[in-house]
Amino acid sequence: MSSITTDTYCGKCGEPIYNEDSHNRKPCPKCGATSRKYSLTASVTVAVSASVKATVVLYPQSLLDTAESLISKGDELSLSMAVILCHTACDIAADRAFSSILDSNSLGHIKKELRAMFSGYSPNNDRLWNLYSALSGEKIQHKPFWTPLKKSYDCRTDIVHKGKMADMKQATITHKEATSFVAYLKQ
Ligand SMILES: [Zn+2]
Repeated sequence: MSSITTDTYCGKCGEPIYNEDSHNRKPCPKCGATSRKYSLTASVTVAVSASVKATVVLYPQSLLDTAESLISKGDELSLSMAVILCHTACDIAADRAFSSILDSNSLGHIKKELRAMFSGYSPNNDRLWNLYSALSGEKIQHKPFWTPLKKSYDCRTDIVHKGKMADMKQATITHKEATSFVAYLKQ
């Protein structure tokens, strides 16, 4: 079960805006601006009865599935949420892959220290992905999904930090490359 909650605020003064049609924005009741910013919360509940292994496999994929259904809606807010969800799926998959590759290289005992050295799993985090490649024996940066995924990460940053919206092309590419990335990491 996945659910997404969206809160809308005035882009200028931050006043909360309720029940707005994104195709027909009215001026902010407080300052009159029509720009908007959004805050997104995605939550995924996994059935308790599922086996541990099934849960591990399910999670990034369920985010990608939710992203796909958002893309089919086609409006700019849904497309932007889809981009964010795809990158959340990538983060979770990367976190798990990093953890299991440390275990399989007998480095599990310094996992906590290694994690603390790297802030997050952005594709721009070259040192982390160089380490991952060294441990896996295969350059992840040479995979076909890598460059478009990296570019898409910048699109995600624009959405989260600058309030920009994604378009259909950006969302579709992000979903495709994120799916390849998650599959590559076997998550
Ligand atoms: Zn306002």
